[in-house]
Amino acid sequence: MHTAASPKISRLLYKTGIVVIGAGQAGLSAAYHLKNRGLGIGHGFVILDQSQHPGGAWQYRWPSLTLSTVNGVHDLPGLPFADTIAGTASTVKASTAVPHYFEVYEHTFGLAVYRPVKVKVVCEREGRFRVETDRGFFSAQGIINATGTWETPYIPEYPGAARFQGVQLHTKDYRSADTFQGKHVVIVGAGISAIQLLDEISRVTKTTWVTRRLPVFREGPFGEAEGRAAVAVVEDRVRKGLPPGSVVSVTGLPVTAAIEAMRARGVLDRKPMFSEITETGIRWPDGREQQADVILWCTGFRSSLDHLTPLMLREESGGIAMAGRLATQAAKNPRVHLVGYGPSASTIGANRAGRAAALELIAHLGL
Ligand SMILES: Cc1cc2nc3c(=O)[nH]c(=O)nc-3n(C[C@H](O)[C@H](O)[C@H](O)COP(=O)(O)OP(=O)(O)OC[C@H]3O[C@@H](n4cnc5c(N)ncnc54)[C@H](O)[C@@H]3O)c2cc1C
Repeated sequence: MHTAASPKISRLLYKTGIVVIGAGQAGLSAAYHLKNRGLGIGHGFVILDQSQHPGGAWQYRWPSLTLSTVNGVHDLPGLPFADTIAGTASTVKASTAVPHYFEVYEHTFGLAVYRPVKVKVVCEREGRFRVETDRGFFSAQGIINATGTWETPYIPEYPGAARFQGVQLHTKDYRSADTFQGKHVVIVGAGISAIQLLDEISRVTKTTWVTRRLPVFREGPFGEAEGRAAVAVVEDRVRKGLPPGSVVSVTGLPVTAAIEAMRARGVLDRKPMFSEITETGIRWPDGREQQADVILWCTGFRSSLDHLTPLMLREESGGIAMAGRLATQAAKNPRVHLVGYGPSASTIGANRAGRAAALELIAHLGL
């Protein structure tokens, strides 16, 4: 176990009040509020995380993502992020600064995390949850699930994908633009990651940018009111049991200085989605082709929730109906909260959701 104060899983079945699955922004926020309300680590609740080190998914982000290119990382409760940053925003890597922040946070508030512990499946047994992991079993009265999306990259299916002789990658695999030098790279996607990677890769080699829908650039300011309105749209969807949908489809792409510069360089030349992948590239419905060495799918992620399948939380639509003050409570099982899901899939949202889930679950279980 990495964290110094991690309790040992010495028993065959570890009985606890609440299992928090995942120690990213959402899980740590929930854990902070559980502890703040008097629940002790061990008997009261445990935090499990499959990664070797603190940092949630941030530890896996590509090296060129710095604190000046992220959208902004919201403070966890009780400790400002800025207090733990050494260096200037444009040079500090998100993949080191945020994990360092989380590590300091865990130590500051005594949030001992069991790691690496991968939750394989959660099922109900005799009125409690049985949490099966690769390191033992837990029995709990309630679950706060905070497993994020990083483990579930999404790549849409297109005919011919299997016969492509080049390389297909997902955002998750991206490390550096230099590896693409001399190759033609097709970048698929209209989200913030697609734009950022297009920006970097187009500086070193030839690119073709394709998107399913016309990208919507947002020129005006994006303040708190706009943020709340965007979250409300996603919250409304999950309360109806619909899949959350992508955030950019609601917020649009903010026109930053980097985007202006890309416009000036002529790299924001969006092409519609191709209909087929060939051995050597892509083909559009009108027969036009583009030879390519690499297809980089910046097509997003889905929530990593497979381990909850036995709880049968999903609707026919594929979504999960959510209830509770901030839509963190699974409508089909009020003892299960999902944080960092749907409207709380941002660092600010995860923070608020962690608090709401902790307080509601404690009240519901009478802990
Ligand atoms: C490329 C990219 C850039 C982003 N930039 C920003 C940004 O600038 N600002 C912003 O607000 N949001 C951003 N987001 C969204 C943001 O990352 C999240 O909303 C937030 O950080 C996610 O926190 P989380 O705790 O929900 O998940 P994560 O940080 O993904 O943490 C989930 C944790 O769960 C663990 N886990 C997963 N499955 C299991 C399992 N089965 N058993 C045990 N443990 C498990 C993982 O090891 C991980 O530590 C970005 C997302 C991406 C993909």
